[in-house]
Amino acid sequence: MDVRHVEIVDWLIRESGSVRIKAELEWSAVRAIILEASTLPTRESGRIMPGDIPGKEHRIYRVPVGVVSVISPWNWPMHLSSRAMAPALALGNAVVLKPASETVVTGELLLGKIFEEAGLPPGVLNVVSGDNHLIGDPFVLHPASRVISFTGSTPVGRRIAGLAATGKTLKKAQLELGGNNPLVILDDADLEQAVNIATFGRFLHRGELCVSVNRVIVDDALHDRFVEAFVERVKGLKYGDPNLADTAVGPIINQHQLDGLNTMIVDARADGATERVGGKPEGLVLPPHVFTNVTEHVRLGRDEIFGPVVPISRAKDEPDALRMANDTEFGLSSAVLTRNIDHGVRFAHQLEAGMTHVNDLPAVDLANMPFGGEKNFGLGRFGANGMFEDFTTEHWISVQHGARQFPF
Ligand code: NAD
Repeated sequence: MDVRHVEIVDWLIRESGSVRIKAELEWSAVRAIILEASTLPTRESGRIMPGDIPGKEHRIYRVPVGVVSVISPWNWPMHLSSRAMAPALALGNAVVLKPASETVVTGELLLGKIFEEAGLPPGVLNVVSGDNHLIGDPFVLHPASRVISFTGSTPVGRRIAGLAATGKTLKKAQLELGGNNPLVILDDADLEQAVNIATFGRFLHRGELCVSVNRVIVDDALHDRFVEAFVERVKGLKYGDPNLADTAVGPIINQHQLDGLNTMIVDARADGATERVGGKPEGLVLPPHVFTNVTEHVRLGRDEIFGPVVPISRAKDEPDALRMANDTEFGLSSAVLTRNIDHGVRFAHQLEAGMTHVNDLPAVDLANMPFGGEKNFGLGRFGANGMFEDFTTEHWISVQHGARQFPF
């Protein structure tokens, strides 16, 4: 990773349109994931359990599941491939990796090369790619693998979980799907911090991030001042060539995604939201957009956006903000801003999410923390102990010391 640092960052810019800041962040995240994974073999533990049969000893061994299949998306390709692949390998499994077709180099080939150079024996890490219509189902159904780890969209994830449950070989599905993360700004929040957090939290990697700020919910007391300051900040963001050091917003991954975003923007206007910052796409670059007056009738506030578009909703008070924040089928990440930490933590406990950050972005992802969500977001956790649960299984071996007495 260190030797290929410059090459990896360049590929992330070329292949996924990452701006330089994001490419560097992704490189350091992958490095941290690999270092953390290297600690797993020595943190693994078995157990000796008591039981009520005289003379019997119960040993519970933790063993690899065997083969783990990994499907990753295009937005943070190297990060999202490695966060499943590296721990699965470290825990003694073989891995078959299938990245998104948009990011074959950063999603698998570079990783394959790095692990090969590091001395991984042939056959332990395998990479495949191809048209999903041809190889998608066979990849998921292949009898060799016992776990399928999928990160991507909700419809594809649901389909894959269905195949894993109904195919000839029953598999465990680890699913990380869509998000609709609220940033809640309470009436006592620091305004400047709120603007900083909303800006970086939404526009990092032009919003193509499952833990992006998907909605901003602002208490009525602060709403107008926040909007004024935020709009000014967003108008100053540089967009365009991802290779330039000061570009904040680079190109959308492909025309299909851009078309979806354009439809959301047109619908938001028709639904009665107010466009405060906008602009027409230049090639695949969509200028940052900000909408206010986003009520529950505006689709923009309900769907995952995955782009540089921010819906802002006005909450009449704190209970209203909480109701809005929880009004989603996805419960991945969330954030709450307030000058009173205890108040923030009390609010955080009421959010229906797997992760809540007080006075920070929803996008905090550390290799040793449990990353995942609630509700229809998915199943399982990356990082921390979730890796043992998902990529190993238990083998109970009992030993009878001395002859057992039977009733007949
Ligand atoms: P997608 O579901 O279309 O594709 C994800 C992956 O699945 C790709 O590798 C793709 O090639 C593969 N795939 C697609 N159809 C398949 C099939 N029939 N069989 C097997 N594999 C198939 O999603 P996307 O458009 O690439 O990514 C965007 C979505 O991913 C967003 O909804 C986003 O929230 C989600 N995402 C989630 C996380 C997370 O950690 N939860 C991270 C990044 C992205």
